[in-house]
Amino acid sequence: MPVYLLHSTVPLQRANGQTVRHYLGYCEPGNLLSRWEQHKKGRGSTPVVQAMVARGGRLLMGNYWPTLTRTDERRMKRNGHLSGRCLVCQVREVLRRFDALHSLVKNSASTSTVPSNAPEPNSPGPSGVAARARTAG
Ligand SMILES: [Zn+2]
Repeated sequence: MPVYLLHSTVPLQRANGQTVRHYLGYCEPGNLLSRWEQHKKGRGSTPVVQAMVARGGRLLMGNYWPTLTRTDERRMKRNGHLSGRCLVCQVREVLRRFDALHSLVKNSASTSTVPSNAPEPNSPGPSGVAARARTAG
């Protein structure tokens, strides 16, 4: 029985301040797309997912495990940390890190000076790549 993970673009806020952005569910084999559509419409769904949809959250498919069972789904719910299993969250984290790295490099480049042993912009480096690039066209 396939297990799936939904990621809401709008998180819910619990009374304790914790945010809820994911829903883990299971469905009959071959029924994933229709189940996902039901969730998006807020029909036949759990109160958590209905609340996500009611607040304008889009439900993205965060992950899907076709061979897991309902027992696996319960274990995963107990263990929590669903964002670590969510591909949408993982991509967002990679993009966040990339942006941070890009800002760091950009800021570093604007404040640092070129080292005296650095090659000139159009001179061939140790690999000769710049020279080949100039003669290729
Ligand atoms: Zn996620």
